[in-house]
Amino acid sequence: MTAPRLEIDLDKIEHNARTLGERLVDRGISVTGVTKAALGSTQIAGALLRGGLSSLGDSRIENIEAMRRAAVPATMMLLRSPMLSQAERVVAHADVSFNTELEVIRELSSAAQEAGRIHGVVLMIELGDLREGIMPGDLEQAVRETLRCPNIALRGIGTNLACRSGVVPDATNMGELSALADSIDATFGPVLEIVSGGNSGNLEWALSGAHPGRVNHLRLGESLLLGCEPLHRQPIDGLHTDAFTLMAEVIESKRKPSRPWGKLAQSAFGELPIPADRGDISQAILALGRQDTDPHGLQAPAGIEILGASSDHLVVESAQEPLSVGDEIRLQPNYSALVRAMTSPFVASAVQGIHSGTPAAGGKVDPLERRA
Ligand SMILES: *Cc1c(COP(=O)(O)O)cnc(C)c1O
Repeated sequence: MTAPRLEIDLDKIEHNARTLGERLVDRGISVTGVTKAALGSTQIAGALLRGGLSSLGDSRIENIEAMRRAAVPATMMLLRSPMLSQAERVVAHADVSFNTELEVIRELSSAAQEAGRIHGVVLMIELGDLREGIMPGDLEQAVRETLRCPNIALRGIGTNLACRSGVVPDATNMGELSALADSIDATFGPVLEIVSGGNSGNLEWALSGAHPGRVNHLRLGESLLLGCEPLHRQPIDGLHTDAFTLMAEVIESKRKPSRPWGKLAQSAFGELPIPADRGDISQAILALGRQDTDPHGLQAPAGIEILGASSDHLVVESAQEPLSVGDEIRLQPNYSALVRAMTSPFVASAVQGIHSGTPAAGGKVDPLERRA
């Protein structure tokens, strides 16, 4: 079978969506499933919807267009601020977009008028992580201007933490978001339906028993797909952490010294510490490299240690039996490794699960699609 390949278990993704969705609904919080790491895969989108989610979000309009073409039945949200140059595409394919610039909202408004559509807007607010967001002091004016735009429906406000600077979502910044929502509604009438607190980094806060205040929406990607929370990268109780497995094939296996010899300068990817001399080891090479994934985001099975990586080679040491050429090794990707593998044209994907469109019996993995 083709390698490297990502094996994707749709049933585990569906389970994760259902489990987290139900826990959060109990707290008055609805969930948008974030598909950006799935490259707009209609099968992964389908698993999230079967798990009970009704809206999907992505940072790339291309992925939303792909899901629309496949008639994925969900409300589609564009999570990254639209490019001014993409306003027409955004209005044509996304129901809602997250925005911080009035110039862009006005362009969306013109495009929506032209297309005879109503486009939903969520205004993102800066609460300290210093990525996207309107400064809180400028929010009222931004709401006023947005409400004036024809064919634009202000749907809510939101924020994004824990991404650029690692600012932790907590009672203070979530309280500030709630207070801003109250203040906007007091000034303009009840206009905010969605108060979107953030991403998977918000789960610790959201599930802690803290009062959610006005926050009634989260956008979740990593936690649904990988079953872990991004602040401490701990598994979330009751979720599957192995819905994705990256399979790679051994192309060389030899006893070799643990320490390089000759005069040492930079490697292909910069300076490296010089390995200690541990005598000869069982070294193997997997046909997998930086063009396929993020080698630092991979966890090897017990007894196998990742020693290094270049564009096309992953060098591993096997503690027990030496590996054999042709063996396939199961690697567990983190979010960074998953995103890179999903977007690499060199990595195939093999979808399994009762809804993958193939008989799951006998562990048959099919269809095997190579993305071009
Ligand atoms: C990627 C993204 C998310 C989802 O983040 P996860 O950590 O994967 O849950 C949510 N909101 C925005 C704006 C994003 O860009």
